[in-house]
Amino acid sequence: MSFLHFGFSDALDIILVALVFYFSYTFFKGSSALRIFIAFGIIYILYILSRTFSLHLFSSLLNRFIDVGVIAWIVVFQQEIRRFLIHLGSQNIWDKNAWKSILKWNTQEPVQRLQHTISIISDALIQLSNQKTGALIVLKRQTDLAEFEETGLVFQCTLSPLILETVFYKNAPFHDGALILHGMHCIAARCILPMTERTDLSEQTGTRHRAAAGITERTDAIALVVSEQNGDISAFLAGKRELFNSAVAISEFLKLHWK
Ligand code: ATP
Ligand code: MG
Repeated sequence: MSFLHFGFSDALDIILVALVFYFSYTFFKGSSALRIFIAFGIIYILYILSRTFSLHLFSSLLNRFIDVGVIAWIVVFQQEIRRFLIHLGSQNIWDKNAWKSILKWNTQEPVQRLQHTISIISDALIQLSNQKTGALIVLKRQTDLAEFEETGLVFQCTLSPLILETVFYKNAPFHDGALILHGMHCIAARCILPMTERTDLSEQTGTRHRAAAGITERTDAIALVVSEQNGDISAFLAGKRELFNSAVAISEFLKLHWK
């Protein structure tokens, strides 16, 4: 068992691999690519172990995955690589804080972006409520919402206060139905959502609120509603309704549930 002879070069080898894993983990932390990175890591460790213990068939099977490794990495991580290169290009590498920021590029950005998106939404809901403009916004979490997005007008744009105001403006062609958001990306407007079949809701609960309850019963999404009738702001999650009276309360709710 030659692998039991442990020398300086083995220790160095392990330290270098550990560093690669550590920096790769830091690099992908906070992005959905992390799970893929972990899967690649597990396949690679299994491959090394199967070779060490001479499991020829199993290691040749795993080798197929390793063979396509570099190309697969580029294809799977193309978004991350692109964002990282843009981030790298925007840093001054002589600045002593730059490298810290480069390594943490992926963990800081989404959190800051999410907070920015939440504050845009909270402020817009208060404004829509003051104007008594009806609105229905669906925030995607894990469940795929494609079947509901296709019922509306699919378009791609980055969320801004003006977009929310324009979409729900009373005479605008977009204002009916639901707006679906993926993070800070507006995906589709005028979407038709499935309504709840609950019979215990008050008679005043109209179709907008029933649609918000319905989508959150069928998916893990969050639905936000501004009532045209009385300006009430509600959030629905798993069919349950919560009412809000301030931007801070909406922000707190979203920070807690929209990750
Ligand atoms: P409000 O308090 O604003 O009056 P409501 O719950 O009483 O809301 P309605 O008065 O019936 O509901 O609101 C009608 C609006 O709700 C429609 O114009 C449309 O924009 C939206 N709506 C109704 N049904 C759906 C649906 N299935 N999916 C998405 N939006 C819907
Ligand atoms: Mg109504």
